[in-house]
Amino acid sequence: MKAIERRIADLWFTEYQTPNLRLGLRIEDVLLNKQSKYQHILVVDTKQYGRVLVLDGAIQLTEKDEFCYHEMMAHLVLCAHPEPKKVLVIGGGDGGVVREVLKHDIVESVTLVDIDEEVIRASKTFFPTVSCALDDERVKIMPMDALVFVKEHHDEFDIAIIDSTDPVDFASGLFEQSFFEDVHAALTESGMMVAQTESPFAEPELLRDAVLGLRHTFERAFLAWGSVPTYPTGLWTYAVGSKKFDPRIQRRSAPTGLKYYSDTMHSLAFELPPFVKEIVNGG
Ligand code: SAM
Repeated sequence: MKAIERRIADLWFTEYQTPNLRLGLRIEDVLLNKQSKYQHILVVDTKQYGRVLVLDGAIQLTEKDEFCYHEMMAHLVLCAHPEPKKVLVIGGGDGGVVREVLKHDIVESVTLVDIDEEVIRASKTFFPTVSCALDDERVKIMPMDALVFVKEHHDEFDIAIIDSTDPVDFASGLFEQSFFEDVHAALTESGMMVAQTESPFAEPELLRDAVLGLRHTFERAFLAWGSVPTYPTGLWTYAVGSKKFDPRIQRRSAPTGLKYYSDTMHSLAFELPPFVKEIVNGG
């Protein structure tokens, strides 16, 4: 191989996951590389994980493993609630969570609040299998700051799913107790919420604080866990707050055709390894 060909074939994307940990993916093509009003948006094709969406240097999803995350975010709460008719998705502009939510016929409306319309546009252009439900007539898209949106809505949603970027800049408020209190107020009397709460290896303090915040705010709060290979350390957590129903109990079966979530996975997800229990309960 000529030197120039070898250099092109050896183009890598490096994600700085923590100060001491990087993930490197060999790139086949760069499809989008632009700065929006809020963040840097990069879309690349990779050999290992297919197409990848990166915001401000952090991987948001890859074609090959996005189902692990999106199925858990949606079905953990939708299957635990007896009548999830009105659903709020915060962040989630790629549409992966919305796609999973609409696999439940009982859902009447989904409100998606993402601050950055450019993410929605990029997903519609480059990730059709992820964004495929965003044009469904039950979906209403609100391009605005979710911190403002939740303050203006009360007693309205059965389910809230917080699918945000990492807690930096305009997303940092989405991990705080005051935000959970606003989400609590936006939910109906039997409402339930889930938030992605990062990795117990990479962000133990964030995880503990988020669970404590939920425990102070919601009548019931639990942590679930699962695997997402391209997220830092591969072990991921989901914090669930509920006003009435125990989210560990599945009340409705998993939709058919899923690849990660199942009826058995629901109860297993709430069974925490001892070291994770120690993080959230203190030791
Ligand atoms: N699954 C992803 C992850 O954990 O890496 C998150 C995916 S989704 C693309 C995250 C979205 O949250 C982004 O599109 C970003 O614009 C949105 N976001 C961040 N802060 C926000 C805020 N304050 N209000 C509304 N949307 C916000």
